Amino acid sequence: MIVETGRILKGFAAGARKSRKRFPHQFAVDGFYDVDGMQDDRLARLHRCDLIHFNDGIGKSWDSLCLWAQVAEWLVLHQDQTYDFESLYRLWASLGTDSECRLFFDFFIREMKMHGLTPELDECVICRKPFFIEGMNQKDYVFVIEEGGLSHPQCRAGLSLDGAAVLFLKSRLSESLPALENQTLARASQESLNRVIIPYLEWQMGQAFKSRRVHLKQSTL
Ligand SMILES: [Zn+2]
Repeated sequence: MIVETGRILKGFAAGARKSRKRFPHQFAVDGFYDVDGMQDDRLARLHRCDLIHFNDGIGKSWDSLCLWAQVAEWLVLHQDQTYDFESLYRLWASLGTDSECRLFFDFFIREMKMHGLTPELDECVICRKPFFIEGMNQKDYVFVIEEGGLSHPQCRAGLSLDGAAVLFLKSRLSESLPALENQTLARASQESLNRVIIPYLEWQMGQAFKSRRVHLKQSTL
């Protein structure tokens, strides 16, 4: 459970089988609930729960469900942190309705920063010559996960990342650049970001995302 204090808790519904009145609903990943309970460190004993609403966008879209599963898996892996509940709620609510998945990417880019894993986007990670992305052709650079940033393709082979995706990353990672709120994130840029962000975090943190493997088997993103 992600609770409004921003903590990630495990919980159990005490006496749920006996009381349909106190527990009229089953817990599901697409549900937002009002719960009463006692909290003991990371374990919560719940006495009552009411469904506030379901997010149909997650319930009915495989891609959205998988994106949320990746966020949830990350939260469980880093459950000692306290999160901004409002941001997580907005992300959860946006899945299935925001076709650009901006808040999903925002979340993981914020986590990159939080864990001190900002990738190198200003110069080649191999030859150290500076990049000026705005005026460059996409064929001029690649993203090298194991080196942590952009490289010339002739310096090291890597993943293609389109210019809009690099600008999106830069604007989110930098305090000084505008956040590009009004710029559309095209499908190709989303695919670019999706190709790079989670694999980069997996490599840097030494943690594999099971939910991503499941998603990749049957994905439209
Ligand atoms: Zn280079």
